[in-house]
Amino acid sequence: MNYNIKSNKAEEFISHDEILETIKWVDSNRNNHALIDEILQKARQMKGITHREASLLLECDNSETVEEIFSIAKSIKEKIYGNRIVMFAPLYLSNYCVNGCVYCPYHAKNKRIPRKKLTQEEIIAEVTALQDMGHKRLALEAGEDPRNNPIEYILESIKTIYSIRHRNGAIRRVNVNIAATTVDNYRKLKDAGIGTYILFQETYHKQNYEKLHPTGPKHDYSYHTEAMDRAMQAGIDDVGIGVLFGLNNYRYDFAGLLMHAEHLEAAYGVGPHTISVPRLCMADDIDTADFENCLPNNIFHKIVAVIRIAVPYAGMIISTRESRENREKALELGVSQISGGSKTSVGGYATQEDNNEDSSQFNVSDRRTLDEIVGWLLNLGYIPSFCTACYREGRTGDRFMSLAKSGQITNCCGPNALITLKEYLLDYASNNVKETGNLVIEKEIKKIPNNKIQKLTVNYLKEIEEGKRDFRF
Ligand code: SAM
Repeated sequence: MNYNIKSNKAEEFISHDEILETIKWVDSNRNNHALIDEILQKARQMKGITHREASLLLECDNSETVEEIFSIAKSIKEKIYGNRIVMFAPLYLSNYCVNGCVYCPYHAKNKRIPRKKLTQEEIIAEVTALQDMGHKRLALEAGEDPRNNPIEYILESIKTIYSIRHRNGAIRRVNVNIAATTVDNYRKLKDAGIGTYILFQETYHKQNYEKLHPTGPKHDYSYHTEAMDRAMQAGIDDVGIGVLFGLNNYRYDFAGLLMHAEHLEAAYGVGPHTISVPRLCMADDIDTADFENCLPNNIFHKIVAVIRIAVPYAGMIISTRESRENREKALELGVSQISGGSKTSVGGYATQEDNNEDSSQFNVSDRRTLDEIVGWLLNLGYIPSFCTACYREGRTGDRFMSLAKSGQITNCCGPNALITLKEYLLDYASNNVKETGNLVIEKEIKKIPNNKIQKLTVNYLKEIEEGKRDFRF
């Protein structure tokens, strides 16, 4: 077996043999109740479990065990993240793409989709519209096209986004989801002040990966899989991983995803900052019925819960690909960040596209406005947080992880969530949401354990009411 967790070679840290062995090991232990109990016991300690242990939990289908897995995931979520949910929105810069990804409507051969690339003026219009909704954190999205979307274009766009101030609006954290690139380019992204670099693996199965990406630079499995290693070498220590569930056998990709997280921690001392759980959606030119691995909801929920248990300190992200009902369940089981009011088309925030001119990447399921989502979260007992403080205070990579592991993060995140929610309520919320939100803030202030921080938070809230903005711990 060629498995080597610390190697920087894709085929050694994501060893095909180790994944097959894991699946075999799970199949021979699926009725080993003593072992499953032992893993559940380990899971309760909130220190994570291995990809093999997690893969075994994922295959448990006895309802009592599944309930136990859900209840452990819930309690880990509550202990580490409290009831805060971080909000963000995607911003599509360009859908020009030279790749041939068979599941993505941006693939180069799709002649039906209108190709668009935002100018800097159009970016200003998009970002102004996003600021006017209340967003503070974006995830930049772009197809891969060295001629139309070179790194200079991405860097210029980031600079533009950070510079825009409309009323009290500001984008304070720009995460970036662009194709795998060089160490040099990752360094440039780091210097541009990005938050997290996000790249989905799509699938960890090399042979299927190559079939799903038949042409273009993305065809190179090793270059894509080793992208996070290059990002880390360039000094980006907050990276976000994910697979696109539905493309390949979920058991294979689930094990691969956790092995990737284990590799990053073993090789660089810091695991993924976030894990996303996207599922394949219908889109122009793409029919999910053509894909035989589509994931049913019950397994999707188990995947969310077991990721929460396996990697307790990674944020977990769910997008508007999922319906309101699925998002509600996923929030309970471990998701800590969600998008809201999203448009997956290029230029979709500032202008309404008619359907014939639709440049969107996929159909979103949750079409509610950001205000509706904030109101919904508050009514469910969550605190929508627009906080972007950690990376601006230098709490990234292993610094963030060690603070999170020692429980210290709650002294910053809780109060920061309240402060940024207050800004949202004053500047953007409807009257109903404002009323509910203010009651929640009043209740939550009393729960801040440290007296000094509680007092400071009260002062900050007062100053925000008086018109000041952008306080943080
Ligand atoms: N172009 C970049 C790359 O190659 O990684 C990333 C940007 S792409 C806009 C973001 C992600 O959308 C992809 O990594 C893929 O997982 C996801 N995606 C593509 N087609 C999709 C579909 N039909 N349904 C759901 N997600 C999809």
